[in-house]
Amino acid sequence: MSETEEDTERGDGGDTREAETVVSVNPATGDVNEEVVATTPEEVDEAVEAAREAQRSWEARSVNDRLRVLDVFQNHLIRRRDEVARTIAAETGKPVGEGLVTDLIPVIDAVRFLKKRGPEVMETGLDLDNIMVMDRKSKIVREPLGVLGMVTPWNYPFGIPGSQVVYALFAGNAVVLKPARETTLTGLKIEEILNDAGLPDDLLHVVPGGGSTVGQAIVESDIDQMTFTGSNAVGEMIQERCQERGVPTTMELGGSDPAVVLEDANIDKATSGIVWSRFMNCGQTCAAVKRAYAHDSVFDEFRDEIVRKVDKLRVGNGAEENVDVGPLIDEGAVDELAQQVDDSVEMGAEVLTGGERLDREGSFYAPTVLGNVTHEMPVVREETFGPVIPVMGFEDISEGIEKANDTRFGLTASVWTRDTDRGERVAREIDAGTVVVNDHGYTYGINETPWGGYKDSGHGRTHGVWGIEEVTRMKHINKGSADTVPRSLRPETTWWFPYSDDYLETMGDGIEFLYGNSVVRRARKAPKMLKELIGKKGL
Ligand code: NDP
Repeated sequence: MSETEEDTERGDGGDTREAETVVSVNPATGDVNEEVVATTPEEVDEAVEAAREAQRSWEARSVNDRLRVLDVFQNHLIRRRDEVARTIAAETGKPVGEGLVTDLIPVIDAVRFLKKRGPEVMETGLDLDNIMVMDRKSKIVREPLGVLGMVTPWNYPFGIPGSQVVYALFAGNAVVLKPARETTLTGLKIEEILNDAGLPDDLLHVVPGGGSTVGQAIVESDIDQMTFTGSNAVGEMIQERCQERGVPTTMELGGSDPAVVLEDANIDKATSGIVWSRFMNCGQTCAAVKRAYAHDSVFDEFRDEIVRKVDKLRVGNGAEENVDVGPLIDEGAVDELAQQVDDSVEMGAEVLTGGERLDREGSFYAPTVLGNVTHEMPVVREETFGPVIPVMGFEDISEGIEKANDTRFGLTASVWTRDTDRGERVAREIDAGTVVVNDHGYTYGINETPWGGYKDSGHGRTHGVWGIEEVTRMKHINKGSADTVPRSLRPETTWWFPYSDDYLETMGDGIEFLYGNSVVRRARKAPKMLKELIGKKGL
């Protein structure tokens, strides 16, 4: 939870000026963590300019040199993990251990992945199988885009900006990042630890402030790419503006992930996995299971197990021991969720457990399971960002798939079955960027895999090879020898000027030899072609 305030300060000369501040508040207690002076839009422009200058020399350093800084960063992060996780808990209320797993690990793992696979993605040799160019070599080199703008949400305040920043820096970019106001202190930690690890000055600017001021200023600034993670409403606005300005974007937006439980599923495993995926981070996860469907033959058992496991969740301040589910981010989030549940109940949904705010200090809502749910209800139609799960049945798999796909979102999904081949066949039918069989959403922390959605869940991919591609541009370099063969012997390259008298015939023969599917005809052309090629190489 946070507030942005405008304070009036009096300067030495008696002038008044307005200084905006960001107030970081603990949503579990309402206590103020700290107040930070917000960046002004002018300072955002200055940050982009300074970042551009720093980026030139960063790009000029070798990939391994850049990796050395990230390696030190990774070590610092491992050492300072509790400090970071406690800052996250103070700003979000989530359990400290959960911060380690879902915020720290994705970033630590990003560095692991980049050290292992990054260099070969930045420079890859191509096999040129065509015999005509057997004396040539091609490679792909990836070049940074320049200065990247980033605006990120509060729900994974270290994991999301941290991993995006690591990919961007690895590839030789500079970054200007606005963290969500609620989690400004966590955003500043990324900068602090990277600087401590030896990141050159000005390569990363974390600029605190509000979305409509500082966020907007980044969008309007001289950036080369914009990566946005957050709501559809804001994402669509930013996308439109960047398109007008010709700035490429990566958009990681909302989700309404389905879990589809087949009749042969391991119900104990499926319900444990679905409850964790939905209720960790107090249900405030883009890729949480937001709709659960079970085959009619196992529905009653599935629903009862979900209710039983949800009833056992321990709600409280995540900074304390033995807490599974923390608070929502603020009172506004509780109001919105309560409205979605109340409206759905009014339309006929049945509260199987929970269904109300918790009467205690902080922004808490009871972990809730809803039955008797239809697709017209807000808890299914809209993205729910809190601890609520609607459970529904399906008669056969085609109905299950149809219901799973009945959404404007397509971030991730899961299929639960003992027959993993069948699970894969169902996965292929679901419209989502990632479909996991017998687990849900966890691949954010596995950096070999891509992250990003279909439909209104956004476009572009963070993580993996694709995450590197997203923050670079591809250059193809093709090299041939500088040596020439006397023209009296052969033209340097068969297809160059001057065209020989038998040019048409030679090229025709070449096509037959290289691409024809008759072995006999290809063999017949071989001697002439070999002569061409030998002559061409001057052997
Ligand atoms: P918001 O879109 O409200 O906020 C995200 C960021 O955008 C914040 O930093 C916010 O600043 C900033 N912002 C707000 N208005 C503007 C503006 N006009 N111009 C520029 N920046 C602006 O999202 P939430 O914080 O509510 O995050 C939850 C949403 O994010 C959910 O829909 C969730 O599904 C999605 N999400 C998607 C992920 C994915 O990987 N696909 C991952 C995580 C979340 P401010 O601090 O002022 O709010």
